[in-house]
Order: sequence, then structure tokens, then C-alpha cells
Amino acid sequence: MTTQPAPPIPAGGAFWAGRWRSPVAVLEVHDPEDGRLVGVAGDCTAGDVDAAVSAVAQAVLHGPAWPVWQRREALHRAAVLLAEREADLARLISREGCKTVRGAAAEVRRAVETVRLSAEQADRLEGRTLPFGDTPRGEDRLGWYTREPVGVVAAITPFNDPLNLVAHKVAPALIGGNGVVLKPAEQTPLVALAFIELLLEAGVPADRVAVLPGRGATVGAALVGHPRVDLVSFTGGFATGNAIAATAGAKKTMMELGGNGTVVVLPDADVRRAARAVVDGAFGNAGQNCLSVQRVFVARELLDDLVERVVHLTSELVVGSKADERTDVGPLIDVASATRVESWVDEAVEGGAAVLIGAKRDGTYYWPTVLTSVPVGARVLTEEVFGPVVSIEAFDSVDDVVADVNGLEYGLQAGVFTRDIDSALDVAQRLRVGAVMINDTGDFRIDAMPFGGGKRSGVGREGVPFAVDAMTEPKIIAIHRTPRSA
Ligand code: NAD
Repeated sequence: MTTQPAPPIPAGGAFWAGRWRSPVAVLEVHDPEDGRLVGVAGDCTAGDVDAAVSAVAQAVLHGPAWPVWQRREALHRAAVLLAEREADLARLISREGCKTVRGAAAEVRRAVETVRLSAEQADRLEGRTLPFGDTPRGEDRLGWYTREPVGVVAAITPFNDPLNLVAHKVAPALIGGNGVVLKPAEQTPLVALAFIELLLEAGVPADRVAVLPGRGATVGAALVGHPRVDLVSFTGGFATGNAIAATAGAKKTMMELGGNGTVVVLPDADVRRAARAVVDGAFGNAGQNCLSVQRVFVARELLDDLVERVVHLTSELVVGSKADERTDVGPLIDVASATRVESWVDEAVEGGAAVLIGAKRDGTYYWPTVLTSVPVGARVLTEEVFGPVVSIEAFDSVDDVVADVNGLEYGLQAGVFTRDIDSALDVAQRLRVGAVMINDTGDFRIDAMPFGGGKRSGVGREGVPFAVDAMTEPKIIAIHRTPRSA
């Protein structure tokens, strides 16, 4: 395996109330590839959360004003700094998490776009005049609304996109004029610390941001339940989402949860194109992606052709060290995740599934796996695998596929391959998911689009302009004029 010098580790283990802190307890961050210690972050407490939230609330409510032009300039500078530091940040993302260096560099470039787009949303912070004269009761009134920050945003993020998903919460919150308290995933806190450090350098006021690494059950829960938090923006698993909903009570929440992405390949599809997209969508980041392609339904007459191509392309993937530029598939985040994926595949095989390639584990590595004839109800079809496993099944009736997808508990994004626009639109309109990509898999997103799904896949929509809308609220000012006759 290639040895790389250790990436730069940010100065402190946590940051709140304007300075870096070194909490007594620490979270050790280990590289899932070889178990080596990458660095340490603070293991914050519920008391730390209270101090951090109170300080941010104080700054937002009573601190100096932070005008929109300054917010925009700070975020533009942050985007430039991110781009300049792509190589260092990519190495840090790759070392502490599961991404290959190539995948990590792509994530840094996405984060640059997310932060730049957030800066540009300054133009969106607008209001309009209100038609008070539309009712006799309002005749003597004149008024308008503006968009105002909600106040304190709690951002809670997962391990699989440890920079861009942080950026998707922190940057829209800041341009909207909020303060933010960030709780990054236990496994990947270091790049979150580096991002906050970079924001401070770019000119974000130190009392408006805080980052508190720690456990979900302590820091996460304390943050969600804190009475001075106005909005919780969460990305992670469904079970955690449920726990957060129970703790948050009557508080605004945005939730980006899981998926088990379906692709439909219709009889007239370009099979070569579909096969390439399925392999990229199923095995990118070793399947640790909410948009990962997990279920492929193909018209029966195309089954053999598609399977042959998918298996061939899968056999060409390089499984190996994350630090090697040639590697396509790195490890899962920990051994527990790899053994869970292994047990789900074993369960499908015991029920009659055939393994076409893969189904092999070594420590945290699980080899890209293609299954077919998977029994109805197997977890690799109905749950979120969050690993490099895809199932391919033949269909005879599109209606059956639509009914199957709509009966799932997840509904994030899907893809449909066909050369016929009417068939494409028919399927797209009938699927109950947040987005349908035509002639692509559901594993596609730009950071400006409204992103999210229904059912177990989420509540509300993220994506920069939509997050800014959710993190700001209209405030009305109305003047009751003195009637002319008075
Ligand atoms: P997770 O739910 O285990 O953890 C996510 C975050 O929640 C972590 O920071 C964790 O510490 C925190 N947390 C845990 N318990 C908590 C509690 N009781 N209160 C508050 N916070 C708590 O998720 P993960 O394993 O890190 O990430 C994988 C999941 O994230 C998958 O389900 C994946 O689909 C989902 N995800 C969704 C999207 C999306 O945009 N839809 C993107 C990426 C990942």
C-alpha cells in the first residue's frame, strides 16, 4: 500500500464561543483501511453543547450585525481557500474516512461549488410588498416582508461525505444570517474542524460558528433538545432521524435520510450506457452513498446483455488502497459495517440469490458484488445496504416495477433508461421518489437542485437555494397609515 505523509491536522479538538478548545476526553480517529491513528478530536459533552449554543444565540441576537455583503464576501473567500487546499483536504478526507483520494478530491470540488453557490444566494434574501389593499380591512395599510434568519441552526452530519454535507448545512445557514453549531460524524470530525478553521480565516465571525465533535447520543441529542436551537438540519440514517424527531419536539427540522436506489432499464434502452452508469452508481465510495444504485430492473430480453456487461465492468474495478490514484473501491467505514453487508448478502444467497461476482470480505473491505434471483423481501432489496452490492432482476411488466418501487419504505431518487421520451416520462411521473434521472441512474445531483425524498428518505429538501429558504423566514412589517379624513 502507498505510504503518504500525514495530512495537516487542525489546531484544536473543538471550537465554540470564539476560541479553540481542547476537551479533556478525545475521540481517536483511525483510518478504516489500516487502523492507523489519523488524529484526535474533542469528545464534547452536553455541558459543552449548552455553552456553545448559548454563545452562538447571544451573538445572533445581541452581537454586532453581520451585513449580507460581508457574509457573501466571507463565503466567496472560503470557496477560494477550499479550492487552493484541494490536495490537503482530499488527503485528510481520504485518511479519516472511506473515500479514495480521487473521490475525496471530487468531494472538495463539490464543496467549493456548494460554498460559492451559498455566497451567491445573497440575492435570494429578498422580500416583496404585500397587497394589503386586497381586503377592506387592509385599505389603510402598507407593508412588506423580508427574509430573516431563523436564529441558531444545529447541523448534524454523517461520515460518507464529510466535507460537502457539512458545507451544505453551514454555508446556507451563514448566508441566511444564522449562527451554526456543527456536530460532525464521530468517524470523520477532522475535515469538519479544518472547514471551520478555513471559514474563520475567510472572515466568518468567530462567535457565529461552533464545531463540537462527539457522540450522537450525547452531543447530538443535547444539541437537538436544546431550547435555544431554532432549526435542526440532519443528514444520516432513518433510525437516527426518528430519534431526533422524538427529541426535537416542536422545532423546525430538515432531514436527509437514506435510500435504496432503483434503476429501470426499458426494452429499448442503450444497454452499454446503462451498464456503465449502474457500475459507477453502485460501487462509487464502496456503495456508501445515499444515492447508491442498489436495485436494477431490466426488461427480460435485455437481462443477459446487461448482466454480462455489468459483471465485466465490475471485474475491471480496482479494489485497494485509498491513497492510490488508480483505486476505484476502498474500504467500508468499519468492520461492523463490512460484516453487516456480508451477512445481508449471505441471507440473500441462503434464500436462493446467485452471486455473479464479489461477495468476498477482508477486514473493512467488501468486494463489489452483483446478485441476481434475489428472493422477494431480502434486505439487500428492501433496506439500505450502504455497501457495494447491486441486484439485477428481469421484469415483464413496467407496472410491476412501479408498484414495487412505490411500495418501498424509501423514496430518494431513481433512474430510467430508454430511448423513448413518452415511456421515460410515464415511468418518471409514476415513481414516488424525490427525483428521476432519465438515461442516468439516481446517483446524480447538482448542489443547486432541491434534494431529498419522502417516506424514510427524508423530510423537506436540501440543496443550496432550498436550504437558504428553509433556514430563513419571512418577517412582515406593516404600517397603519393615518386615514386621510383624520
Ligand atoms: P448516522 O445516522 O449513524 O449518524 C449521522 C449523525 O447523527 C452522526 O453525526 C451521529 O453522531 C449523529 N447522531 C447519532 N445519534 C444521534 C442522536 N440520537 N441525536 C442526534 N444525533 C445523532 O448516519 P451515518 O452512519 O453517519 O451515515 C449513513 C447514513 O446517512 C445512511 O443512511 C445514508 O443514506 C445517510 N445519508 C443521507 C444523505 C442524504 O442527503 N439523503 C447523504 C449522506 C448520507
